[in-house]
Amino acid sequence: MTHRAVEPFAVLRQRMVADQIVSRGVKGPAVLDAMRSVPRHLFVPEGERARAHNDGPLSIGRGQTISQPYIVALMTELARLNPDSRVLEVGTGCGYQTAVLAACAGSVWTIEIEPELAAKAARTLAELGVLNVSRRVGDGSLGWPEAAPFDAILVTAAPADVPPALLDQLAVGGRLVIPLGTTSQDLWVFTRQPNGIRRESIIPVRFVLLR
Ligand code: SAH
Repeated sequence: MTHRAVEPFAVLRQRMVADQIVSRGVKGPAVLDAMRSVPRHLFVPEGERARAHNDGPLSIGRGQTISQPYIVALMTELARLNPDSRVLEVGTGCGYQTAVLAACAGSVWTIEIEPELAAKAARTLAELGVLNVSRRVGDGSLGWPEAAPFDAILVTAAPADVPPALLDQLAVGGRLVIPLGTTSQDLWVFTRQPNGIRRESIIPVRFVLLR
């Protein structure tokens, strides 16, 4: 699209995807497209825009962070979304991961415990015309029972152990992508299978703690 090609931040996103994401093995075309098109700079505080495409997390206020681009892409890829997927996100934060999920899935439900961050994320998503997102302020470790079951659940803050409600709200075949641990953390994928839960540890990570 020509209007994207002339937007200066589009060039930075192309470079971010090539240098930080494709180079580390993320392959899904929908994920890569979303990372190239969602305007990450609009989700960070204005004073941080010059750093929006850096290879690391950034502060978004209230002691919280926007995840590193690679981690957003990796978690989205691990969720294995398709255009019909129903996805729950715990920890809306600035709404950037939400927008990436909304580009790859059918519908997204997102929960944030900090009202101020939730309100700001809602404004940014509305300005961008992202329509397939429902949001709620509250404790995401309880999930969103009325909208369950989900094909994927992404948690972007780390608990010590898996919140049982989230496993309960996973559809058969559904995937829970979640950082676990306090002083040291790993990213895990839990898959609900007809006869139980399969668990797989992916890489060491560092997230803010789930409250
Ligand atoms: N996905 C976000 C990452 C934000 S950091 C992004 O792309 O910006 C994690 C977020 O989880 C923070 O905003 C924090 O306030 C929120 N959080 C922490 N504990 C929570 C809980 N129990 N329920 C919902 N959100 C929570």
